[in-house]
Order: sequence, then structure tokens, then C-alpha cells
Amino acid sequence: MPDTVTAPPKSAALDATSPALPREVDVLIVGAGISGIGAAYHLATVTEKSFVVLETQETFGGTWWTHRYPGVRSDSDLFTFGYRFKPWVGAPIASAGEILKYLAEVLEENDLERHIHYRHRVTQARWSSDLGRWAVTVKDLATDQEHDISAGFIWMCQGYYRHGEAYTPEWEGFDRYKGTIVHPQRWPEDLDYIDKRVVVIGSGATAATLIPAIAPEAAHVTMLQRSPTFYFVRPNVNELANTLRELDIPDEWTHEIVRRKITHDMDAITRLSFESPDFLREFLLDTIRPLLPEGFDVERHFSPTYRPWQQRIAVLPEGDLFRCIRDGKASVVTDQIECFTENGIRLASGEELAADIIITATGFNMSVLGDVDFSVDGRTVDFADTVTYRGIMFTGVPNLAYVFGYFRASWTLRADLISDFVVHLLEHMDEVGAKSVTPHLREDELDMRLGPWVDPENFNPGYLTRSLHLLPKQGDHDPWRLLHEYGQEKDLLPTADLEDGSLIFK
Ligand SMILES: Cc1cc2nc3c(=O)[nH]c(=O)nc-3n(C[C@H](O)[C@H](O)[C@H](O)COP(=O)(O)OP(=O)(O)OC[C@H]3O[C@@H](n4cnc5c(N)ncnc54)[C@H](O)[C@@H]3O)c2cc1C
Repeated sequence: MPDTVTAPPKSAALDATSPALPREVDVLIVGAGISGIGAAYHLATVTEKSFVVLETQETFGGTWWTHRYPGVRSDSDLFTFGYRFKPWVGAPIASAGEILKYLAEVLEENDLERHIHYRHRVTQARWSSDLGRWAVTVKDLATDQEHDISAGFIWMCQGYYRHGEAYTPEWEGFDRYKGTIVHPQRWPEDLDYIDKRVVVIGSGATAATLIPAIAPEAAHVTMLQRSPTFYFVRPNVNELANTLRELDIPDEWTHEIVRRKITHDMDAITRLSFESPDFLREFLLDTIRPLLPEGFDVERHFSPTYRPWQQRIAVLPEGDLFRCIRDGKASVVTDQIECFTENGIRLASGEELAADIIITATGFNMSVLGDVDFSVDGRTVDFADTVTYRGIMFTGVPNLAYVFGYFRASWTLRADLISDFVVHLLEHMDEVGAKSVTPHLREDELDMRLGPWVDPENFNPGYLTRSLHLLPKQGDHDPWRLLHEYGQEKDLLPTADLEDGSLIFK
């Protein structure tokens, strides 16, 4: 049997000292990651609404708390992954620790922590049209007790994957392996990889971050991939930000100017990925060729079959993964796994990779709306039967907003836009005296052509395609589409017509 290590209990960095749960709130936020904290900031600073934030884990940060593997960092720049309202003053790519510190400052500067209840999982939400409210069941994980909170509106900020459960495919002979198997989502603090032969299965951002962090001390690290990933190689500096800082421009201005420059450049690259994918492919490969040893088969190992940006392009600050390959501390194998053996992995090519440790950087299990059981007037909601309103709300489900960020740009750019939208929506409800708002298809839209939440032709990573059948549908025109480009949405969302008949206010 493999020694499948699970993460040790997390040290309670912040102990749950929050006051008793409120029985009734205007808005209930699920999740205290970057989206939930952003939502709380907007409610606290722009509205008078009462609210509570419920979080399963023992502290804030979501993704940046869950992931503890060596080298864990963003692959977006923090000017755009950071909030619009809080300047980023460091280098563009940040470690998980730096992101948590930034979030801690947002909590402290805005006195938000008192609204958060850690170790509280939201399990059920029942809408009553008679009351015009949600009854929300919350499990206190410290005591195992359940509590009900009455909420006027629910704001789902639970991210897109299950934090408590990682995705590992089923491989033949998995149980035969005698070494140690680790998933990066459950990284054991005491994992000893010094002088060990390590195989990392996967080639996404996680593998590309992890390998340079462990390769110098490991005996050797092999990145085993079924298919290649595109990489952007960049220095971890932003010249424009540095110049503006040298000129003593206020941090707020620098933040805004650099955000505009980055989003402008990212839009251009996204356009290129659709209009001239071959050119972009060659450009990306040309930047990495000189960083690899002579004779390295770049086409085989680093030229994916898909179009650039059809899956996320992983950023390699300073090309650190390639440095490890040049130094002989890491190598890449592109092959299929036939089975696990006692000592490692046998590949379809017949080659056997011996390993003391196997790291399965194989991705996530999607969490549909936080795995909360939703019902409306006694009827269970199956989100796959709903159509999304602007990728934020769902037909037939009142007073519920959901934060789902961009794939090709920083998640937080969209989280900020959605915060503005929800605050605007809540203000509008007050103005028109409505207790509820429910998206519904207008008469002439009832037979609108529906498609999946995300068109696989547009974006198709494994975790998403595995779960598309569980996710809401989208229509073929606004406001029933989930837009993927910040450039489009930044102007559309703030000017959305709330009285175009697609939202029913009561
Ligand atoms: C390793 C890694 C690196 C990434 N890097 C980037 C990047 O550089 N740029 C980028 O744009 N995106 C990146 N992403 C995607 C990333 O997840 C998002 O950008 C962002 O962190 C999501 O924030 P969030 O607050 O929406 O969700 P999360 O960070 O997933 O946080 C959601 C929180 O909700 C809680 N929760 C869930 N369900 C419930 C429930 N029922 N009750 C109570 N609490 C609940 C969870 O415990 C969690 O703490 C990365 C993802 C990973 C895994």
C-alpha cells in the first residue's frame, strides 16, 4: 500500500474568536477567500446592510490558505489579482504568504474580521417566497451543531473547487506503490523530499511552481505529463510600476495606471490567441527555446495540441522551471501512465520511472455553488436546469449572486465588478421597495439556444469539462451569457439595465 500522506491538522493561525452567529442578516456571504473579503469590503464601505461571512476553514484566504506546497504563488500579477481599492506595492507575482498578508491588511483596515465566522459550513439554503427570505443552515464544525440564519440575500463567494477534496484520477496498480503519494492540495508539512527521486504528475501552474521549489534539494524531479502546457516566461518586475514609484507617484495612482496597462496588454494577447493562434504559439515557444538545453525537444514537451489560452497559460517568473531542466535537476517526460508499480510508474512507452515520492498535481474537483443544498419553496434547485443571468445569478433562484472570476485574466477583476453589481442591485431593490429579485427568461427567449456554462471551444481545462453537466447553462445573447473578457465586461456590467424585464422584482 502506498503511504498516502494527508495534510496534518492546520495550526490555528487565527483562532475562532468571533461573536455568536447573528440570527438574521440582510446579506450572507459564503467563503472568506479573496472574493468573500472583497464582497464584505463593498457591503461595509458602500452600504448600511447587515451581513455575515461564513467560512469552513479556520482562517481567511481560501485558495491561499488551502495550498501549502513549496513555492506556492500566484501566476497572475497582483496589480490585477489584488483589489481595485487596495494598491499592491510589491513585485507582480506574489507568494501565498504575501497574498494572505495583503488580505489581512484589508480585513484590519476595514474592521471586517468581526463579521467572519470561521469553521462554519453552510449546508442548506431554503427560500420562502412568503417570507421573501432564505433560511440558511450552518454547521459549526467545532461543536457539530447546526444553526439557522435568516438572510435576505446570499452572496456565494466559494470559489470553484472543493477545498477539502483533491482530484486524483484512478490508475491501475495505485495501491501497489510502496513510496509516498502526495496531492499538492493536501501537502504534509513534514514531507521530506531531500535527496529523494520525485515524480510530479501534471504540467499546469501547480507543477510548474512546485518543481523549481523542490528540485534544488531533491535528488531529481521528473515532470510527467500526458500533454504539454503553454508557459509565459517573464521577469518578476513591472518596469512601469518601478518607474512610477521612482517618481514618487502615489501608490493609488500607480496601482490604477499599471492595472490599465496590464489589462490592455492582456486583451491584446487574448485577441491574438483567437485571431493568430499559430503566431502566438510560435512566439511563446521562441521565448522558451533559448532557456532549454541544446537538442531539447520543445515541440514534444512544450507545444500543446490546443490553442494558446484555451487552457490557462502558466507564468514562469524568470523561467525558473527551465533553469532546473538546464541544471539537470529536473526533466520532462511526455507519456501516458500505464500503471503504478511497487517502485514507481510504468509508462505506455514501456519506460519505468522509479520514484520515492509521487506528487499528483492532477487538479481539482469542482464545487457547484459550495455544495450547498438550495431549494426554492420546497423544490430542490438543480443548477444545471437554470440559465445564468450575466454569469452572476440564475433563473428561478431569487436573491442569490455567485462570484466566478475570469480564466484568462485575474479572478479578482471580475470579483470587483460583481461586487459593484450586487451593491447596485441591492440599492435598486431598496429604491423600488422590492424584497426579492429573480432572473427569468422573457417570453421571446423561452426557446433561446442554450449552451454550457463555458464553451469548451473557448476554454477547456479538465476540472471544468468533467463538471460541465452540473453547471448552469448560458444563452446566446446578453444578459444570459457568461462573458470571459474583462475588456467587454468592465463597461457592460456597470451599465446593466436592471429593468429590461429579465429580472423580476417583488
Ligand atoms: C494554487 C492556485 C493558484 C491560483 N492562482 C491564481 C492566479 O494567479 N490568478 C487567478 O486569477 N486565479 C488563480 N487561481 C484561482 C483562484 O482559486 C482564484 O483566483 C481565487 O483565489 C478564488 O478566490 P475565491 O475567494 O473566489 O475562492 P477560494 O479561494 O476558493 O475561497 C473560497 C472559500 O469558500 C469556502 N467555502 C466553500 N464552500 C463553503 C461553504 N459551503 N460554507 C462555508 N465556506 C465555504 C472555502 O473553504 C474557501 O475558503 C489559483 C488557484 C489555485 C488553486
